[in-house]
Amino acid sequence: DIHSNRHFQEPEREFENALRPLTFASFNGQEKIVENLNIFVRAARLRGESLDHVLLHGPPGLGKTTLSNIIANELGVGFRVTSGPVLDKPGDLAGILTSLEANDVLFIDEIHRLAPVVEEYLYSAMEDYRIDILIDKGPSARSIQIDLNPFTLIGATTRSGLLTSPLRARFGINMHLEYYDMETLTGIVLRSAGILKIGCDRRAAEEIASRSRGTPRVANALLRRVRDFAQIKGTGKIDHAIASYALEALNIDVHGLDEIDNKILLTIIDKFNGGPVGITTIATAVGDDAGTIEEVYEPFLIKEGFIKRTPRGREATDLAYRHLGRKRQEEQGL
Ligand code: ADP
Repeated sequence: DIHSNRHFQEPEREFENALRPLTFASFNGQEKIVENLNIFVRAARLRGESLDHVLLHGPPGLGKTTLSNIIANELGVGFRVTSGPVLDKPGDLAGILTSLEANDVLFIDEIHRLAPVVEEYLYSAMEDYRIDILIDKGPSARSIQIDLNPFTLIGATTRSGLLTSPLRARFGINMHLEYYDMETLTGIVLRSAGILKIGCDRRAAEEIASRSRGTPRVANALLRRVRDFAQIKGTGKIDHAIASYALEALNIDVHGLDEIDNKILLTIIDKFNGGPVGITTIATAVGDDAGTIEEVYEPFLIKEGFIKRTPRGREATDLAYRHLGRKRQEEQGL
């Protein structure tokens, strides 16, 4: 499934890495965030200090990992990557923390999924660059304090609502990434095509961008698939005709909605007569949790005008009805 943001095959991962911008200047969009981060990075560099801890939140595929990598590059320091679910014992975290050099960046993806014991361990590391390690077992067990090099923790999360307040409070810089507009996404597709040495004209890039759910990861993945069609069915160059042909053949939604987006809309329309209906009820019907729907799916559907938030719950708009080829009951004469 080309729209699934999370699960990757190895070639896909390599492809992503090849397309990752490495400097603030080559990162498209998110202007306000980039402008501010650039200032914070330059100030930290000037003072020879570590940058404050940074929390990046927003839906998957919008550039959290990429930005973190850029921050480390622009700081001129090392970059270590791990993730919440991987760090299941305090010892794993201690191993990483003690190996960091001065002012290095440690990136923890899916930081909302840290085990509570590991999270607590992180507090003193973030605050005082110090950790307590328990040595020995039984009666001779004692804890020793270890000083760490100053470092910057960058935490990324799609679900900022799940972060505990003590953890959240320890980030000096807190930023939310937004979905990309068409213009910016078109630029990203053209840039990626340039790197991959694929000929792609602007109209084709716009067509790909418009079906990418406001998400660079999806745009790049679609470019890769369209390239296959261009090479086998076309001249090798991507023009508007081959792009449209490929996207139709791949069954990519014209608005860029994915399976779950469509399921949410169908639930509201078919099961709840267009709403209003509460988020928990929608979540149960779709089989996902309410927080994920609220933080990961709904923002895009609202931004694109498929859902309205009302005091009594979510409502499907006329656009959603048209998109799914449904008619309202009153129009059906019921
Ligand atoms: P996240 O960590 O938020 O899930 P990533 O940083 O892994 O997202 O980005 C996913 C892909 O999208 C990467 O291949 C990256 O190159 C590309 N990408 C993300 N943001 C941008 C951007 N602003 N400009 C160009 N490419 C981007």
